[in-house]
Amino acid sequence: MVIAEENAAEMLALREVAKLHDSDFQFLCFKNLEEVLFWLCDGVSPQPVRMEDYRSPVYEQQNFDDMYLDDKLKRIAVCFATGGHSLLLRGTPGAGKSMFAQRLPSLLPLLSSENHLDALRIHSMTTNKLSKFILQGNAPFRQPHHSTHPFALLGTADQPGELSLAHGGVLFLDEILEFRRDLLESLREPLETGKLHVSRAQKKVTWKSKVQLVAACNNCPCGFYDSKSVKCKCGMQKILNYEAKMSGPLLERIDMHHRMQEMSPELFSENIPKHSSFMKNQVISAREYMFKRWGQETENSASSFEQILESSQVTGKKRAALMKELAEYKLSSRSILRLLRVARTLADIDQSLTMEKSHIKEAANLRPQSS
Ligand SMILES: [Zn+2]
Repeated sequence: MVIAEENAAEMLALREVAKLHDSDFQFLCFKNLEEVLFWLCDGVSPQPVRMEDYRSPVYEQQNFDDMYLDDKLKRIAVCFATGGHSLLLRGTPGAGKSMFAQRLPSLLPLLSSENHLDALRIHSMTTNKLSKFILQGNAPFRQPHHSTHPFALLGTADQPGELSLAHGGVLFLDEILEFRRDLLESLREPLETGKLHVSRAQKKVTWKSKVQLVAACNNCPCGFYDSKSVKCKCGMQKILNYEAKMSGPLLERIDMHHRMQEMSPELFSENIPKHSSFMKNQVISAREYMFKRWGQETENSASSFEQILESSQVTGKKRAALMKELAEYKLSSRSILRLLRVARTLADIDQSLTMEKSHIKEAANLRPQSS
């Protein structure tokens, strides 16, 4: 296989992920076409390429060691990365919503071979030179702006959009309520199924788009409702309209909702405790426990109501008691499924086969009040 030297790193990633061996292919890297001609006409072979020379140093992801996290935020981050859940963060400007979201990929495991191969394919369609981040199989992180054109977010029949570029990783929609409503609606199906169907003119294409959605928004139009330091300028009607926007069908489908507190200056009087490696280890052991319990590599975010109850050994009287407990929260059936998936993940983090009352309550606190 004749390839350009600039693409050697990409070839190396592909060879590893597709499990190609030297006996299957011989890779010949050339600097330019002149070298290829010498090889074809005069049999001058290029210097054998040692793929190892192109192995990039390991990409260091930005982690949580530079950010103050309270216990609840730590728990949410670990739960997100363990169970494959989606997350909505609310809070005043400056509460750290974007900072928190951007550090979540540091807790995610490397992509599976299948997802890595998909990511290499999808990203190759939009760039000539893949980033180290993708070459090394890190879960992608994409943050399209709310003014992004629908084609750029969803893709066309010829090119994948931001949604598919995030396949296997995180799609972060900051200021989600500023996105066009119809655009958010068109994300509903792909977020459920992990696939996006595009048909334009004669062409029909299906793009893979299994992502973990992270969304963020302010508390109110001016942002400072609930703030201790700045007075909110919005009237009650404006706040009610804003709340109404929040109860859209897309938002109801988000597993965890959390209101981030403003950071008080006292928090910064001492050094920020470094928790990243502890959290990462928690994710690794919780995922091991979860896969062992399912008997396969399934994430809780993909499980059904019955599967969760069966796998947690909730039968007979236990089932009746759980149903009674859940009824008290007065949630829709869709919300109950989201709640149970999150409760299952919290139990997996605690290495518990049963979902305790405390897990259910903790997951219920992560539901929006009105769902
Ligand atoms: Zn306001």
